Amino acid sequence: QKLARIDKILAASGYGSRKDVKKLIKAGEVLINGKVAGDAGDLVDPQADEITVSGEPVLFEENIYIMMNKPYDVVSSTRDEYETTVIDLLEGEYFHRKLFPVGRLDKDAEGLIFLTDDGKLAHRLLSPKHHVAKTYYVKVRGALDEEDVKAFADGIELEDFTALPAKLDILKSGSISEAYVTIYEGKFHQIKRMMKTRGKEVLYLKRLSLGPLNLDEELEPGMWRKLTKEEIDSLK
Ligand code: URA
Repeated sequence: QKLARIDKILAASGYGSRKDVKKLIKAGEVLINGKVAGDAGDLVDPQADEITVSGEPVLFEENIYIMMNKPYDVVSSTRDEYETTVIDLLEGEYFHRKLFPVGRLDKDAEGLIFLTDDGKLAHRLLSPKHHVAKTYYVKVRGALDEEDVKAFADGIELEDFTALPAKLDILKSGSISEAYVTIYEGKFHQIKRMMKTRGKEVLYLKRLSLGPLNLDEELEPGMWRKLTKEEIDSLK
């Protein structure tokens, strides 16, 4: 059994800040197994103890897992003085959970952003050792051809590193081309830089998947939802 402070559990479950929660406890609104909680520091087992606030049972989730369709013009960091961030798009929901995006997506890119407060899982997904596949839909200026496919598959050399072999699936070739690109790292501007070495300029970039996680096509840009249990299990 894992014991945690009652104020911490309630703050993490959406009952406000630690200060707000302390007030609820002082007011006698919080019961632990039917008994009024005496102190903000009371220890509980969130899996086994029955906790209620004003008579309502508290549903505690160990971790939160969210997928978002990041819109254009939003930055994938937690805080920014000037820009709208993916955390801002949660509109305060899970404010007390310290969610962060797993990996970055450029401000001018759209698509799948995975947010969690599960540090262990994030670490695994981000580890360069694990070569987690990320698939993007991309529109570029210039005609993509088989030589580009081969260059991607061979591993494109950039200024500071050589990209792992990547997959380029051409959907349409012309003055503006469309393709799916799968890469196994997540270096700064990676796809834009890989395309640039091939003389193509990225006009539009959208992330479709991260490992086993696929962007829910029902999610309009800016929308988000919690992962299903199956999706969470697939990541572990
Ligand atoms: N490659 C890029 O160039 N930008 C991204 O945001 C992701 C991959």
